[in-house]
Amino acid sequence: MSDLKDIQFSQSSIDTYDTCRLKFKKIYIDNIKWSNDNPNFGSQFHLLAQRYYIGIDEELEEGRADYILFNNLKKFLKREKGMYPEYNIKYKDEEISLIAKVDLIKIEKQKITIYDWKTSKSKFDKSKLEKSYQTKIYLHNIAEKFDVNPEDISLIYYNPRFDNSIKIDYSHSEHKYNKIELKNKIVSIINEKNFDERIGKHCSFCQFNSICNQQFISVDSL
Ligand code: SF4
Repeated sequence: MSDLKDIQFSQSSIDTYDTCRLKFKKIYIDNIKWSNDNPNFGSQFHLLAQRYYIGIDEELEEGRADYILFNNLKKFLKREKGMYPEYNIKYKDEEISLIAKVDLIKIEKQKITIYDWKTSKSKFDKSKLEKSYQTKIYLHNIAEKFDVNPEDISLIYYNPRFDNSIKIDYSHSEHKYNKIELKNKIVSIINEKNFDERIGKHCSFCQFNSICNQQFISVDSL
């Protein structure tokens, strides 16, 4: 069992906590991990993208479900110098530890761009993305770890299904606000004592659905 003070928080763990505290407890405190033996469509696509930006050229058969998406991605963002896929950016202070696992980071002189691939079948909601912990943690950790002005950091979400992207810029004032919000949120989780279940529609996407609701789910829904 993990001590909450030792947990390295991420967008995923905070979102899980907000969705259902019991699910958070099972995964991040009791360490009940989900096997990656059956990767879903999204994780397979991320692997293709990672290989491409590392420098591995992979020719896909035209019939493959991800053929068009992968070609869209390559047209959207060509491989260049200074690009690092699947990059972890860690932040730690005396109270909290926070990790951003970014799909791709592009480092230029005094400018950093982070890319995140989304393969969902729904279109982007910019306001939702701007308020998400993913956006806040990615931008926060970059601003803390790199010697770059927050104004020179941006985050681009790209969905190859729709060949559509959204760019989110950052600023000093947003960083100041983010820093306080993220710390308060994580400290409140560290001090949490109640990890009750929260039954709802979200259970259809939870690996513990068979335990809480006696219902099985498909791996693609995770
Ligand atoms: S099935 Fe529902 S209630 Fe049970 S852990 Fe998952 S999200 Fe929580």
